[in-house]
Amino acid sequence: MNRQRAVRQMLEDLRSAGVTHVPADFARELATALQTAPAEKRTAPVAPTPAAKPSLAPAPRTQPVVSTAPAVVTPAPAPSASPAAPTVARSAPVAPAASLFEKPAAIPAAPARPCLNLTRDERVAQLKDVAARVAQCTRCEELARTRHQTVFGVGNPEAEIMFIGEAPGADEDRQGEPFVGAAGQLLNKIITASKLTREEIYICNILRCRPPGNRTPAPDEAANCREYLDAQIATINPKYIVCWGSVAAQNLLNITSSIGKLRGKFFDYQGIKVMCTYHPSYLLRTPTAKKDVWEDMKFFRRAQGVELQ
Ligand code: SF4
Repeated sequence: MNRQRAVRQMLEDLRSAGVTHVPADFARELATALQTAPAEKRTAPVAPTPAAKPSLAPAPRTQPVVSTAPAVVTPAPAPSASPAAPTVARSAPVAPAASLFEKPAAIPAAPARPCLNLTRDERVAQLKDVAARVAQCTRCEELARTRHQTVFGVGNPEAEIMFIGEAPGADEDRQGEPFVGAAGQLLNKIITASKLTREEIYICNILRCRPPGNRTPAPDEAANCREYLDAQIATINPKYIVCWGSVAAQNLLNITSSIGKLRGKFFDYQGIKVMCTYHPSYLLRTPTAKKDVWEDMKFFRRAQGVELQ
């Protein structure tokens, strides 16, 4: 469109909008504006506003077109009527895993030792009956064949303290009584120094027959003789047991630790406090160990309220 047509068109637009008089100077300004305005920017029609009296000022056609497209607005999240309810039901509390160092809630108790509550005469009679069976026992063929006699046990049937040794030696095999040889004499000294008497103690061994040459009892021999030992313990029903030597300690407690590692503490055997120390025969061969036994006896007697110097 040339300038003349543009001006003519503009005037027609003004007239159609009800403008009947256009001042000459305005017409000139309008023409000048049309000349300076870029042709390509004039394609956007300017809609007249019929209701309002049109401004005679020319529309700012050079003003860049502002996009009326709606800005992209992130919609606010729809308000929730109430906090989201948990979709998973609350589970029952789970107990924490037990620590490796945590003591188990329940430790199976050792079977209770039968409490016979026997009278003295009943104990004597029961021990006599078991001793008679032992005297006829041939479970250990070699021992039964080589023994002079069985060595059952001796002492107070109502003793609170029970001594358990290893097996009869040559002297015991001849006399039929435990701890009567050189080792027995040393044990007597220990008993006296510990403010005890032999009459208030019950003494027996793991075996009731002497192993040839005083060899160490074989496991099957100890197992064969366990029934008799259990019968003596059940009948005497002591509060304390002293295991003299590793054979006594390991067989009674069913452990394999050396006597050196078992000293200085009490073990529980069916409710009985068990202390372990060196055998008197070992002290005869190793006198330096006597001080250890003395310390053990002081520890043992302290548990009974007796202080040894
Ligand atoms: S050691 Fe005990 S089990 Fe073996 S023969 Fe002698 S009494 Fe019987």
